[in-house]
Amino acid sequence: MHSDGLDTQRALAARFIALSRVGTALMREVDENRLLQLIAETACELTGAQFAAFSIRPIDETGQPLVPSEGYLFHLAAVVGVTKEQKEFFQHVPLGGEGLLAPIFHHGVSVLVSDVLTHITHASNLSSTATRQSAREAAFAYVHGELPSEQLRSMGVPRGHPLVRSFLGAPLLDRDKQVRGGLLLGHGEPGQFTPEDEVLLTSLAAQAAVALENARLYRMTQLRAQELHAIFESITDGIVLVNQHGEIVRENEAARLLRTSLQQEPSLAALLHTPAQMALTTQSIQEQSVVVANETGDVKEYVVTASPLHLAEKASGPLQQEGIHQQPLLQLSAGAVVVWHDVTERRMRERERVAYAEAEARLVLLQKILDELPSSVYLVYGEDARLMLANRATQAVWGAVWQRDVPMQTFLQSQGIKIFGTDGRPLAPMHLATIRVLKQKTPVYQHEESIRQPNGTTLSVVVNAVPLDLPRPFPFAEMTKQVTSEPCAIVVHQNVTALKETEQLKDEFLALAAHELRTPLAILKGFAQTLLVQTARGKGPTLAEWQTESLQGIDQATTRMVELTEDLLDVTRLQAGRLELQKEPTDLIALVQRFVGKLQLTTQHHLLLHSELPHLVVAIDPRRIEQVLSNLLGNAIKYSLGDEPVEITLSQDDANEMAVVRIRDYGIGIPTPQHSRLFGRFARADNAQAHGIGGTGLGLYLCRELIERHGGRIWFQSVEGEGSTFFFTLPLLSPASSDAIL
Ligand code: ADP
Repeated sequence: MHSDGLDTQRALAARFIALSRVGTALMREVDENRLLQLIAETACELTGAQFAAFSIRPIDETGQPLVPSEGYLFHLAAVVGVTKEQKEFFQHVPLGGEGLLAPIFHHGVSVLVSDVLTHITHASNLSSTATRQSAREAAFAYVHGELPSEQLRSMGVPRGHPLVRSFLGAPLLDRDKQVRGGLLLGHGEPGQFTPEDEVLLTSLAAQAAVALENARLYRMTQLRAQELHAIFESITDGIVLVNQHGEIVRENEAARLLRTSLQQEPSLAALLHTPAQMALTTQSIQEQSVVVANETGDVKEYVVTASPLHLAEKASGPLQQEGIHQQPLLQLSAGAVVVWHDVTERRMRERERVAYAEAEARLVLLQKILDELPSSVYLVYGEDARLMLANRATQAVWGAVWQRDVPMQTFLQSQGIKIFGTDGRPLAPMHLATIRVLKQKTPVYQHEESIRQPNGTTLSVVVNAVPLDLPRPFPFAEMTKQVTSEPCAIVVHQNVTALKETEQLKDEFLALAAHELRTPLAILKGFAQTLLVQTARGKGPTLAEWQTESLQGIDQATTRMVELTEDLLDVTRLQAGRLELQKEPTDLIALVQRFVGKLQLTTQHHLLLHSELPHLVVAIDPRRIEQVLSNLLGNAIKYSLGDEPVEITLSQDDANEMAVVRIRDYGIGIPTPQHSRLFGRFARADNAQAHGIGGTGLGLYLCRELIERHGGRIWFQSVEGEGSTFFFTLPLLSPASSDAIL
């Protein structure tokens, strides 16, 4: 197309320059779209084409074509020198192995046509199938060098295609000589492209193919590098790469965070320097446990692994790419990789598991021991006494299974269990030992209760309930949370039904014996009295002195025996709940004065009565209160060895509206260890027996029962060898209530 030789040379030089420029650009460009555009533009520029279309076949990530080379839509990668409409047209036209494109897309051979018009078959008598067939055959012959390009058949230029007379097309072949795309050039004038253009285009296409492959590889490498980077950073273990000098070359986020949180150098040495050094010099370190403390003082445990790292001479690939590497890894010929795996949680869980297993084992042992105890033992918590733990005997006591965490009242009600006091009356919940210990937080000892089980069986039990300070954490792990702030108590029930039955038999026997003794004693006393009185009146013969004394002895002993049997009967009445009080408003001062006056006649001890009040009106059974006075004053006299006085003081406790009686003696006193049990039945102090002072140990028991049944209280203070003071109180009668009683 250039006639002038100089021009031709210049054009050739320009072409050469352009080609080498594009070659360099092609090698440098890694953006595929820009690359394709550059190729298309260069092709136009070098050949003087009016337009160029660059289409490529869609491929997958690995470079494999997604569609066959013929008859499918190729992806229009770049286009130069066309209108918008024409571009649109190119995007939708299939690039088949038809006509002039067949050698390019079907066989991978370039095509140069000086005038497309001369290739179009105008014979109207040929069917389109025949035309297509002959075009195919021509293409086949052409690619095999059996036909000049002038003999190729065109299937015509479709509507919308830019006007094309000169046509030059070259295939893009990949490494496997597969058609990867086509570079198609056109010109509106015929004869625009030369065979040199064809050679040029073919070589450009070859370069483009390599550049495209590079771009694809680069894209993939970059993707992979990003993937690896993302994985590396997201690993929760800390990973550190060090070079042969032990310097950190690369580390992930987890490692960075941990390293910067460490304050002390020794921690970093244990975690990193030492393992890295060992990996660099000798061998890899497997699973070494390291404990470190971070800046907030939290202790963490890591399993450290370190292994030598040998990189290939020419380190290549993803790690060096832009934005990914931190240090020039290329310089790393040897090094080590250290991995920190945080096992703090795991170790903690392991320790917890061991502790839990130990606690469980202790609990099982405790439960076994408890189950073997004959008495019922259970633990309760909360003011409503929810069950925490119970032994086997508990079930026998209640006659039902008390489930864990169920409040006592709910359990009793649901099972129809009733609890009674010693007087046979139902006990209100707040009086039950189990509830009381939790509410008052003080121990309840020897509380007698009787339990009526669901099947009607009644058990007599003695309950001891003691508040507990549970150790934290409490071995019953699952309950620890519930009980931390709530009161707890251990409750022991001792089944005393058999004992009670024996006692009842004894009481019945006593009652019977005392009752049976009454009549003969009355007769004995009657006859002794008759003899004494009648003799004194001069009836019958006069008795010798020794006879009178004997009769008096009989009389006194009988009186004593009557008193004793009365005491015994009272005890049995009290036990059976049959002792009735005949209460009436009484002036306690007058009653005590009368009683003391009578008693003074029978004793040498001075009975000193003192009261600043004229009256103290109480609602009492006078006979029973006299019985109390008789016991207490009798004791005061009996346990005074000489003729020490006995002081009786009457006063009023305004705060509690009580009359207070105080009886003080200077006798033998009571040893302190025995104070607590003297109000029990048949209880006597050691020193009384040691002094040979007779007694039954029933008096104080009766006194307490009688006083308490009057709504009063009785107690004493005593020092052995110095004497004793007994107190009792009785509720005062207000004028209003005294009217009510009268
Ligand atoms: P007893 O018939 O033995 O006197 P009590 O029930 O009246 O029975 O008294 C119980 C015990 O308390 C006595 O045996 C005695 O040891 C002691 N006791 C009671 N009162 C006194 C007192 N005033 N001084 C010393 N000991 C006393």
